[in-house]
Amino acid sequence: MLKPQTLNAFENFCKEAKKYGFEPKIESGYRSFDRQLLIWNEKVCGERKVLDKEGCAVNRTELSDLELMKTILLWSALPGTSRHEWGTDIDVIDAAAVPEGYEAELTPEESFGVFGKFHKWLDGGNSFGFRRVFLPGIGRVQPEPWHLSYAPEAKEIEQNFTAENLAERLRAADILLLPQILDNMDWILENHVFCYFEK
Ligand SMILES: [Zn+2]
Repeated sequence: MLKPQTLNAFENFCKEAKKYGFEPKIESGYRSFDRQLLIWNEKVCGERKVLDKEGCAVNRTELSDLELMKTILLWSALPGTSRHEWGTDIDVIDAAAVPEGYEAELTPEESFGVFGKFHKWLDGGNSFGFRRVFLPGIGRVQPEPWHLSYAPEAKEIEQNFTAENLAERLRAADILLLPQILDNMDWILENHVFCYFEK
């Protein structure tokens, strides 16, 4: 479900990585709007854990609707704004480094620990058009060094992304917290979407 150019670039990226003993594996690639919507709604209604900045589960009943929305946005994209919907963005691990019986969780600790060598290699610019998006110091999404975006294709989608389209899609969806989302649309776009676009 990735875009052909992105897939092609990823294959080249893998070939190069193999020379260094890495085995890049896509943990999460394409994710549909409906899948993202399901995750969102499950978090809002308490069927799925909501994590705070530190990655600890919050007691959602202690939060106002607005606080709940902002907390969910730390780790989950608002449906219609997930870069995984584009087919250009992937979450990648180094399968060669996974110990037997271990299941990758995509946590910050892993990028220093078990996948540390792979991330150091990525730091060196061995990216074949893939760039890290969710970096510390930008926006409000927690840093995700494993999330890579194929810049040549993603840029095109970024250029065509509009707030109006997004609002239209959300109004047509069965999404929880819709009033809070619409009231804060500019804030969401500024802090969770546009700031990650390539300058
Ligand atoms: Zn991701």
